[in-house]
Amino acid sequence: MKKNDVFTVTITDMDEEGAGIGKLDGYTWFIKDTVIGDEVEAGAMKMKKTYGFARLIRVITPSSARTEPKCPVARQCGGCQFQAMAYDKQLLFKENKIKNALQRIGGVKNVETLMEPILGMEHPWRYRNKAQFPIGLDKNGKIVAGFYAGHTHCIIPQEDCLLGVEENPKILEIVRKFMEEYRIRPYDEDTHTGLVRHVLIRKGFHTGEIMVCLVINGKKLPAAEKLLEALLTVPGMTSISINRNQEKTNVIMGQEIVHLYGNGYITDWIGDVKYQISPLSFYQVNPVQTEKLYATALEYAGLTGNEVVWDLYCGIGTISLFLAKKAKMVYGVEIVPQAIADANANARLNGMENTEFFVGKAEEVLPEQFEKHQIYADVIVVDPPRKGCDEKCLETMVKMQPEKIVYVSCNPATLGRDVKYLTDAGYEVKRVRGCDMFAWGGHVETVALLVKKR
Ligand code: SAH
Repeated sequence: MKKNDVFTVTITDMDEEGAGIGKLDGYTWFIKDTVIGDEVEAGAMKMKKTYGFARLIRVITPSSARTEPKCPVARQCGGCQFQAMAYDKQLLFKENKIKNALQRIGGVKNVETLMEPILGMEHPWRYRNKAQFPIGLDKNGKIVAGFYAGHTHCIIPQEDCLLGVEENPKILEIVRKFMEEYRIRPYDEDTHTGLVRHVLIRKGFHTGEIMVCLVINGKKLPAAEKLLEALLTVPGMTSISINRNQEKTNVIMGQEIVHLYGNGYITDWIGDVKYQISPLSFYQVNPVQTEKLYATALEYAGLTGNEVVWDLYCGIGTISLFLAKKAKMVYGVEIVPQAIADANANARLNGMENTEFFVGKAEEVLPEQFEKHQIYADVIVVDPPRKGCDEKCLETMVKMQPEKIVYVSCNPATLGRDVKYLTDAGYEVKRVRGCDMFAWGGHVETVALLVKKR
């Protein structure tokens, strides 16, 4: 096979970017815009030793998993990878991914018997409580808000992302009209001129409170009072601010916030835990599924009120606070100092006195505490980033000999790897459940319960 050769292949898998994967004579092809189960004609583009990339020429036999993308810009926008796949098929695909990783990488036997049905979304649209729209000019010099096209910095005008809340288009229209009327220019990346870079919108799903923050390349927003007046007509408007970002950078938010209206935060709930969310604070973007995920972690932890729990990679302490209501004491460890400041503030806000948070790397804090203070745990919860747990962290966890380990994972592959380590060290997988936090995207979360073998 060489470049531009045409071949026929059946798609049997998909990667996280949403590309279909097909195998031909032991060689693996990645083909964009295809879906598992499609039989397609494709043209070879770039070839490596064991795998290559091809472009879709035509679908010969469409997969039964195919569906018409609901969003008009699904193919250009970098946000969703699986819009051509029916939602129930996405769930099956994600569940399979977890099962395969635990079986092949984790060496777990009888995975099927351990797995509980994946927690899918009842409403797989408009589930995101946060959106950040870049602002720019189109070819005709008109102000547009939208999304960057996949892997570029080209803005595709689209104010009503179907994953976002219904208020987004209304708010963006207000901002655009305000900019037009007062001749405020959007930021231009190439020349580092212009003022408005991004509009950040957040909504508390339980409270209905809305936050708008304009990220600007400057110190002041001219005629700001006029913008406030217009934005305050949107029901639920609770916090309006500007964020100063005058750097030449891809990072959306700067460090400095000026509050124009409200107390600087909105409030929301996950379960019966309350959170104050400021423009810069981290908060789960899918609150409905987050609640299901953490409820599963809590169920797996099986707390009675007497347990000492360590929550590693605790972020703003969402899981810690969830568990603290049912535990004797919860210790959290997180590398980002600001997140720990939020965790402490949230603990105070909820009147919780049985939590303590440490700033630092889990793989450093835990061994140090173990060696110096002989800390122990009845239950250890981990929720690491995609690369999984550091080996030093796993090693100390095993030394601490907790009765239970609840592993919350955003990457089945590293979950498999770490489960292998833990099962080799005397633990056993008892329960596993997937949870879909990102409908139409490739990622999936998993909760696994490991118990000390007798
Ligand atoms: N459970 C958290 C989210 C976890 S996301 C919540 O509900 O908010 C993973 C977290 O691990 C992130 O907050 C990240 O900052 C943190 N992190 C990354 N590497 C780390 C390390 N080596 N030690 C401790 N925390 C780390």
